[in-house]
Amino acid sequence: MTRIAVLGSTHMDLVAYTARAPGRGETVTGREFRTNPGGKGANQAVAAARAGGEVMMIGAVGDDAYGTQLREGLEHAGVDTDLLHTAEGPSGTAHIVVDDTGSNAIVVVPGANGVVTTLGPGEIAAIAASELLLMQLELPLSAVVEGARAARAQGVRTILTPAPVQPLPDELLDHIDLLVPNEHEAAELSGQAEPHAAAQILLRRVPEVIVTVGAKGCLYAARGGEPVLFEAPAVTAVDTTGAGDTFVGTLAVALGEGRPVAEAVAFASSAAALCVQKPGASTSMPYRSEIEAEAV
Ligand code: ADP
Repeated sequence: MTRIAVLGSTHMDLVAYTARAPGRGETVTGREFRTNPGGKGANQAVAAARAGGEVMMIGAVGDDAYGTQLREGLEHAGVDTDLLHTAEGPSGTAHIVVDDTGSNAIVVVPGANGVVTTLGPGEIAAIAASELLLMQLELPLSAVVEGARAARAQGVRTILTPAPVQPLPDELLDHIDLLVPNEHEAAELSGQAEPHAAAQILLRRVPEVIVTVGAKGCLYAARGGEPVLFEAPAVTAVDTTGAGDTFVGTLAVALGEGRPVAEAVAFASSAAALCVQKPGASTSMPYRSEIEAEAV
């Protein structure tokens, strides 16, 4: 089994569905409310575990009821939570308003995620014992940099999802093997709207890039090689939340199994295509048997 460490966030998504979002100072009556376990770190961890990885989650939840639910959700998916700390105070939350056009507005309150500013010896050892380290940008940057550096020092392959997008310091990118932005993040980071052009710019800073382009699939580019566009399976999407996290979590498992990039991307694309055909994020992530039934 591929040993994967995920250094990342856990959030409880608090979602209100309403005909129209309220304006400033206004109150509207919503139609429905749902809580969904989320956070990009936790989502990638669940995707990787369901795809057959042996996954260790590094991060923190709060000492509230959401924290308990978030931890249980990860454990239920088979993720090791020994290094998911319980911090004093509230868990991370994402407050989401979805209107009838499907548009959303989101306030993320980091809560316990914000206390993960540095890593202890246990976290460093867990990273060193893994084959891959998955990171995103929903934890304090200092911890992400420390994790990336520790992984690199031990020859552990590092994958970064640059979300939420922000300028990336060299002290982080110098330790990243594979950067996986979506096309908006790629454009923001490179100043180039077109994914091929964006990837070429990003390759100056990391050796490998995969720009995900939604229903169109993804563009893989490595230094010294020709970029390759891999098409996504044609499916009817009902909810694309979590597609990118499913893609990355599953990709990590396949890469850790030593599969060539084309095969790993096909495996990840099948998983992400399954995810978008069901509502929700982590709840819609497929299991290995389901992915294998799709992958050619
Ligand atoms: P994010 O969810 O991070 O915004 P994307 O929208 O680019 O990222 O989606 C990530 C991956 O999920 C894509 O590369 C693709 O493999 C898959 N995907 C997303 N939307 C669809 C879709 N409508 N049909 C099939 N696959 C999809």
